Amino acid sequence: MKDGAAALAALALLLTGCTSDAGRTSPQPAASPTGDVADGFSRTVEDSVYPEVGDPGVDALHYGLALAWDPRTSTLDATERLHFRSTASADDFRLDFAAPLDPSSVTVDGEKATYDHDGKDLVVDRPVEANAEYTLVIRYSGKPEPVPAPVQRSDFSSTGWTVTRDGGAWTMQEPYGAYSWYAVNDQPSDKALYDVTISASAGMVGVSNGALLSRREQDGDTVTHWRLDEPASSYLVTVAIGHFTMTEDRSPSGVPITYWTPADRPDLLQRLRRAPAAMAWLEDRLGPFPFDQLGFLVVDSRSGMETQTMITLGDTRYATSPEVLVHEMAHHWYGDEVTPLDWRDVWMNEGMATYLQGVWQSEDEGTPLEDRMDYWATLDTQLRQDAGPPANYRTDSFGAGNVYYIPAVMWDELRKKLGDDEFWKLVRAWPASHEDGNADYQEITSWWSEKSGQDLRNFFNAWLLGPETPQRG
Ligand SMILES: [Zn+2]
Repeated sequence: MKDGAAALAALALLLTGCTSDAGRTSPQPAASPTGDVADGFSRTVEDSVYPEVGDPGVDALHYGLALAWDPRTSTLDATERLHFRSTASADDFRLDFAAPLDPSSVTVDGEKATYDHDGKDLVVDRPVEANAEYTLVIRYSGKPEPVPAPVQRSDFSSTGWTVTRDGGAWTMQEPYGAYSWYAVNDQPSDKALYDVTISASAGMVGVSNGALLSRREQDGDTVTHWRLDEPASSYLVTVAIGHFTMTEDRSPSGVPITYWTPADRPDLLQRLRRAPAAMAWLEDRLGPFPFDQLGFLVVDSRSGMETQTMITLGDTRYATSPEVLVHEMAHHWYGDEVTPLDWRDVWMNEGMATYLQGVWQSEDEGTPLEDRMDYWATLDTQLRQDAGPPANYRTDSFGAGNVYYIPAVMWDELRKKLGDDEFWKLVRAWPASHEDGNADYQEITSWWSEKSGQDLRNFFNAWLLGPETPQRG
């Protein structure tokens, strides 16, 4: 018995050694697009707030990402296959791609290409023609690092690839930061389709957006293949690798829901169980959920992100509270289905998600909505002073309270001005009429004027661009 025990112990050591070796993962081939890449066509622009990130010369149509993560060395080994359209004729083209990542080969349409990789820009020396399509394949590896975020917030100060204590990783990347882990046109006007394959070792599993097409074990790794078949801006993409347990659920209207929670935190799973009821509440006001499925992914963060069809939440009480679930789900209509063309108009999604959250909270608590709006209105002067008006904010204060509370009160004022029926009809019509699209200040404000039959330009300008709190009705 003793000897047997010793042999078993020796075998256990060997097996542990094997498991460690299996940590050296290598990426699968990056998937080519299978559907109609025309869905990824975008009207790209240079960002008026953060022009140093993104390039309107590239219109990404489909990203095929094959990622292999080694949790022992925090090394990402990847192959990226990007199918893109060039929007202009030029001698070269560029993508955002962080310095810690090192390309070992770059090809365009199968031919080796030379490139410069200075700082965060990857410039590929290959002439491109306006409206022609190309396939770029990059093989790269490195130890990804988060990038500094232009924020003054308490819940985060950097974005992008973030490594956890146990060697896992997660990402949140608004307003930018996707470029910390792949070569990307990291600006919201450029929506694209995605296939993401993740090889995770050490008992971990990789989670991303869209549908989970397959999950298999290979050489000790768990390999998952995710497909997002409705186009998304890069800030709405998520990847996390960790010890997650998947639990399935369904909304009353039949939308499949999955929860990806840390295996040792059943309490967090319980907190997400209010999602189906919250979705039913939102569908009553906004119409059918605009995507085929929804997931919730809980990571080691203090923030929350409306990442498209796979919401990424921090593992705190607040980030998993029902009001945050409502907020991030509301973004699927306001932010994901219709997305700001550039970062000037983040008020469009944050204001409406915050307003819907406030309406839901008031109903849930049985308190008057008016009290909540009165309170939020008292914050207005200070918020404008600290960070500027919502649609002309200080560039170092992205995502401050001014883009949440001020436009939330504005929408409530518009509800009183138009009447409940007309207001909610238009709130529901706006995302549906801009499916998979983007919009800017001009389009949003003139759409509301046209549809309501009232000239609302002065109303919007006062609330969103004015130096002082407008008079409330
Ligand atoms: Zn939000």
